[in-house]
Amino acid sequence: MSECEHCKLMEDKSMIIFEDEDVVAVLSDKPASLGHILVMPRQHFAIMEQVPDSVIEKIGIISNRASTLLFETMRLTGTNIIINNGTAAGQLAPHFSVNVIPRTENDGLKLSWESKKFTDEQLSLAESQLLAELKEPEAKAEVKSEAKVLDSKDDYMIKQLKRIP
Ligand SMILES: [Zn+2]
Repeated sequence: MSECEHCKLMEDKSMIIFEDEDVVAVLSDKPASLGHILVMPRQHFAIMEQVPDSVIEKIGIISNRASTLLFETMRLTGTNIIINNGTAAGQLAPHFSVNVIPRTENDGLKLSWESKKFTDEQLSLAESQLLAELKEPEAKAEVKSEAKVLDSKDDYMIKQLKRIP
């Protein structure tokens, strides 16, 4: 048996709602509300950045279907579709997953936040940092040596490892 609790949920089979070769949807073993579904890659990946884009795409589609299924079968007025990506974000299991959480009015779940105030300088600095990073991959792709590109990707992954629960 696997040490990972999400891998265990998949091996157990009893809570599986949907599965194919890449994606598995199970009823959560720690539900926020009745019908709470976890949609995750079958392969063990700790955080979102490690999951291949093709699998992320499928997970998005299956999460949407899981939400629709909940609306059609339970008396809902909403769903929250939440990714806790990294320990600081409240990720508990070391296996990436999307939470699809059924909601009804006044169900008492607290998933909201108060917005914070930032200065115009802080906001424009954040914007320029993001835009600079977005432009950088093009610059990296122009590097002729493939090894150099791989190195920079490795550095990125090493930075991300600190976030893994
Ligand atoms: Zn796992």
